[in-house]
Amino acid sequence: MRLDLHIHTTLGSACSSMSPDEMMKSALEADLDGVCITEHNRIWKPEQADGLSQKYGIAVFRGIEITTTGGDILVFGLDEEPQGMMTPHQLRQRVDEAQAVAIAAHPFRGFLLFGFGMLQMSVDDAKDNPTFSQVHGLEICNSKVTDEENEFARTVAEMMGLIKLGGSDAHDIDGVGSCVTVFDSVIRSDNDLARAILTGKFSLERCK
Ligand SMILES: [Zn+2]
Ligand SMILES: [Zn+2]
Repeated sequence: MRLDLHIHTTLGSACSSMSPDEMMKSALEADLDGVCITEHNRIWKPEQADGLSQKYGIAVFRGIEITTTGGDILVFGLDEEPQGMMTPHQLRQRVDEAQAVAIAAHPFRGFLLFGFGMLQMSVDDAKDNPTFSQVHGLEICNSKVTDEENEFARTVAEMMGLIKLGGSDAHDIDGVGSCVTVFDSVIRSDNDLARAILTGKFSLERCK
């Protein structure tokens, strides 16, 4: 099952220029079997996802990208939006209660821009990021960051034994499907998706 697990639409993310209908058309063009919506700090209502899924005939799952004090964290399998700014540790408690899964989004985004020099930062330094001990995995394929930043995230995830996930982070129609996660199993619900991510039985495709 080919899914794009990180997408923003105008329904819940002011920074996106893509309506839910535009997203679905792009997803069909990219030959996806489904998408997971990860609006900033908002979870779609089940009926919003179901309606769109029925209209276009591919799966629509509901995730969320949560702004924490330790960076953006994607969560899959949560039903309720956490209120207020949380630390990664507080979020992890909520995630565990819900048997959900937490993935650090674009963990090294802007590294080169901020000038503290990814190239000078060793994997050991990177591993000390306190956020990484509060997540199940890192996003290692995200179309909004450089290849170097994705590659560094992959190295750190492997060193730490964390799950390596991918998602486009699309905010417009061109981005949909640029990072695809391919699952061996058929996924039928948001909880299924969380479990499938936790088992790690998937591969990444078209990572750019
Ligand atoms: Zn955004
Ligand atoms: Zn995002």
